[in-house]
This record gives sequence, structure tokens and C-alpha cells, in this order.
Amino acid sequence: MAVKSFSLAQEGSELLSPNFRVKEFACKDGSDTIYIDTLLIYYLQKIREHFGRPIRIHSAYRTPAYNKKVGGAQESQHVLGKAADIQINGIEPKRIYDYANSLGVGGLGLYPSFVHIDCRVGRARWNG
Ligand SMILES: [Zn+2]
Repeated sequence: MAVKSFSLAQEGSELLSPNFRVKEFACKDGSDTIYIDTLLIYYLQKIREHFGRPIRIHSAYRTPAYNKKVGGAQESQHVLGKAADIQINGIEPKRIYDYANSLGVGGLGLYPSFVHIDCRVGRARWNG
């Protein structure tokens, strides 16, 4: 598994897996370059198939400038292309958290309306 870079303009519509396209991981500031860890895609696809419903990605890759603007942690996994904040309509975040936990993902944060998932080396669990 590795972090790959993509161009939003050139590759935005490309499928990364059966259910995820490059553009869903783009930084919300509209930057063209997007970094995505292939292990993150693997986990998201597993979660997608487990619940059988579309995953809404609130935030995945963030440029360092954008991350700072939204008050993200300085060492944020989002900046590395290793994190996504996700939500599934009709599914409690706790259920997503529990399933992702069973997959052994690196970082997992449970928030009232979404779950942060990342593929850092090592393990971190928190409530936001
Ligand atoms: Zn996050």
C-alpha cells in the first residue's frame, strides 16, 4: 500500500475502487493535486460493502494551508492523504466505528455525526 497523487482536473472521474472516485477525496479548497493512500481506499470499500449503502466523504485530503484554516491537527493524517471523515445516511456513526475497529484500522475517531478513519502506522482511538 502506498500514497499516490492524482490530478483533480485530469483524473477526478476515475474510479479508485468499485464505489469511489478520485474527486471524492479532493481538498475542499479546490486544489488540483490530491493524495490518497491505497490502504484508505481498501478500508472505505470494505465499509461500503459491509453496510451496502453509499459513503459520504466530508473531508479526505487536505492541503497544509486548508488543514490549518479548518483547525486540523498539525500532524493531521488528512494532510498525508491517509484519512477520511465519513458518514452513511441512516447508519449511526458508532456502528461505522465498530465495524472499522474490527478491520483493525490505524486511527479511528467517533464524532456525533461522522467517523474519522485513517491508516496511520500504529493505533489511535478517540471520541470527538
Ligand atoms: Zn478527520
